[in-house]
Amino acid sequence: MAATSKAVFTFDDGFVDGIAWMSCFRRPATFFVSPGLVGNNLMPLYVIGGYEEEFRMTWKHLQKIKAMGGEIGCHGWMHERYDQIDRGSALTFLRHCDDEFGRWIGKRPDSFAFADHKPGHLDLVGQFYKHIRPIPATAKAMFLKKGAIEVFVWHKATDPDDLYGTTRTLIQKQAEFVTFGQACKDELIEPLAVERT
Ligand SMILES: [Zn+2]
Repeated sequence: MAATSKAVFTFDDGFVDGIAWMSCFRRPATFFVSPGLVGNNLMPLYVIGGYEEEFRMTWKHLQKIKAMGGEIGCHGWMHERYDQIDRGSALTFLRHCDDEFGRWIGKRPDSFAFADHKPGHLDLVGQFYKHIRPIPATAKAMFLKKGAIEVFVWHKATDPDDLYGTTRTLIQKQAEFVTFGQACKDELIEPLAVERT
């Protein structure tokens, strides 16, 4: 009997490897993107291991992902660190995100992931988003506590062979892929706790 019954994949930063994975496997996953950087290949986010930042998804890609059952999540306006900005700026960025998500995918997403996994102004972000992704290690521990479930966070620096190999193994094990938002709704995972007023 396979140990893993559910898998949650989250892809950060909105690179085209996300749409490639989704098109290849047709399994739901969550794509945390920064609206201010969608389709913007001129603004480097970071460069790791020789990867250049030239391959960001466009809104068209993201609309396709949504149509295929994927979840779009927010990853800050331009990947800003909420632990490093003041409250006024945080609010401005959150509103920019609302405007852009509204324009392109019709509404604000349910899920949010902090850039570099560094929370800040959690109460404020919690007023905008229902589910906030804990740091991956914590998320994984939570998932595992709840039963046979695994969480994977993929981003540009991830080895694509690992990504595809892991995905194929999970499919062979008949794991059910669920989005981060769905996993939160099903109480398979507790998002970062926020004080809601
Ligand atoms: Zn990121």
